[in-house]
Amino acid sequence: MEKNFRLRFAPSPTGPLHIGGARSALFNYLLAKKNGGTFIVRMEDTDLERSSKESEENIKASLRWLGMDWDEGIDVGGDYGPYRQMERLDIYNEAVQKLIDEGKAYYCFCSEEELAKEKEEQQARGELPKYSGKCRHLSKEECERRIAAGEKPVVRFHVPEGETVVVDDLVRGEVHFETDGIGDFIIVKSDGIPVYNFAVVMDDHTMGITHVIRGEEHLSNTPRQIVLYDALGYEQPRFAHISLILGRDNEGKLTKMSKRHGSTSVVAYKEQGYLPEAIDNFLALLGWAPGGEKELFTLEELKQNFSLEHVSKSPAVFDIEKLKWINGMYIRNASGERLLEYGLPYLKKAGFVSEEPSTEEMIWAMSVIDVLKTHISSFAELPELIRHYRGEIFYRDEVLAEMKEHKEEVLTVLKAMKEKLERNPKIAVDSYKKLLKEISKETGIKGRPLYHSLRVAKTGEEQGPDLDKLSVIIGRDLMLERLKKFIKMFQRMD
Ligand code: GLU
Repeated sequence: MEKNFRLRFAPSPTGPLHIGGARSALFNYLLAKKNGGTFIVRMEDTDLERSSKESEENIKASLRWLGMDWDEGIDVGGDYGPYRQMERLDIYNEAVQKLIDEGKAYYCFCSEEELAKEKEEQQARGELPKYSGKCRHLSKEECERRIAAGEKPVVRFHVPEGETVVVDDLVRGEVHFETDGIGDFIIVKSDGIPVYNFAVVMDDHTMGITHVIRGEEHLSNTPRQIVLYDALGYEQPRFAHISLILGRDNEGKLTKMSKRHGSTSVVAYKEQGYLPEAIDNFLALLGWAPGGEKELFTLEELKQNFSLEHVSKSPAVFDIEKLKWINGMYIRNASGERLLEYGLPYLKKAGFVSEEPSTEEMIWAMSVIDVLKTHISSFAELPELIRHYRGEIFYRDEVLAEMKEHKEEVLTVLKAMKEKLERNPKIAVDSYKKLLKEISKETGIKGRPLYHSLRVAKTGEEQGPDLDKLSVIIGRDLMLERLKKFIKMFQRMD
């Protein structure tokens, strides 16, 4: 029987959660969920200089925002903790000692100068630089004496010679590595802290991880981890290395996604007004090809449909236009409540509503967002769009000239609207349609002569959203002001 799926996301808390990290997390999360398994989040915090609490908080908050709640790990606990590497040093030390006792790892006292010299000489001979194994044969007594005298050695793993390591990758198939190319690598630094390749093996083993999905940049670490699994007598998890994410630069060239291509952190996209479900959907498609026409998948649908068989090994291209399109689709389908939750902060920031909005402001905000939701691909575009309709307006001569042909009709419509607005200082946002009908009935003017004059007077433009919707955006007061000015100007024209 297949073991219970246990997958993990093991970021280093050395910065905010990046798009690439979020995609790795998502693929692990989805495979766990698809198979009724467990998703674990733990921290690889052994880089003391670069790790920070702030980064850890950012990563956790980003994961939660994206809906990837973990079943086990930091904060939530579980049977396999602790879930931060710096709290697991005892576990690592015990295993390192065992490897040393069995002659599979050894203390190395070589200084940096010695190592640099060795490397230089190897390069001069045209060899690939790797540790010579000089300290491999030091006696136990000598090691003990030197440690007692205050020397601080590293611990190196004795890599078996002449072997081929096969990474049987679920995405890339079999990838072969020769152990002779590896060289005895450090597993514990001189400060007693284990390196990534060792700690990750210990964590994955002791936590019963069944599948490791991570970025392609880790593929070259995997043979090191596999020789450690073998030496420790542990069963390997299944590995899946997912492709790099590439971005297109200004000249259209594809290179590894970086800040040059735009924002890379999840929070930045949150701040730019993207919905988490759109980000999840977009990230899933960075490598996973569901087949068929369907491109929009909720997290729930992703959990049901995701599989590694449909993950491509070719690089994924980060296409911001696609993200915008997906986000726009989710915005169109979002509930009014959700739209307000996401849109309101932008309206506040731009000063369209106050920090503590009144009921009227809230109603206005809701209606405006509802009107504009089909015109935006992210909430950050809202203020600009509103400003577009509420900012300075211009009347083009040829448009005015055409209107002059029906001067009386135009003035009748505009004056009727002006009077209605004057009589309705608190006009409800949903009553503009009714107002237009009333004007049409009272004046007997309908169709283009009615709508065109009002549209031009209110916006200076001949096209745009429906008139009743536009009225909501512009608002009663500004609309009245514009109508008065226009009527005055129009009357003076001959
Ligand atoms: N801390 C590593 C990273 O953030 C984890 C790699 C792994 O998943 O094994 O890239």
